[in-house]
Amino acid sequence: MTRLTTLRALLGGARRHPARAVACPHCHAAPHIACTTAGRGRRMTGLHPARITAWTRHEAASGSAADRAPVRTPGAADGGTR
Ligand SMILES: [Zn+2]
Repeated sequence: MTRLTTLRALLGGARRHPARAVACPHCHAAPHIACTTAGRGRRMTGLHPARITAWTRHEAASGSAADRAPVRTPGAADGGTR
């Protein structure tokens, strides 16, 4: 139930964010690979917000512990890949 708090803490100073487990839709970093800046391709210390969003949805889709996550999903836009 402390997921939101944890997430917020991680957003503050993200070093090893669990969102790394998914690929970044923004910079296309592979899973477990750090995000890179668009310009020079340098590693970022943080993660792109889009990646965190993707991870949150991933968690919600996997139904682990985020079933109460306040993620606004207007319908199943992802098509349901299993
Ligand atoms: Zn990224």
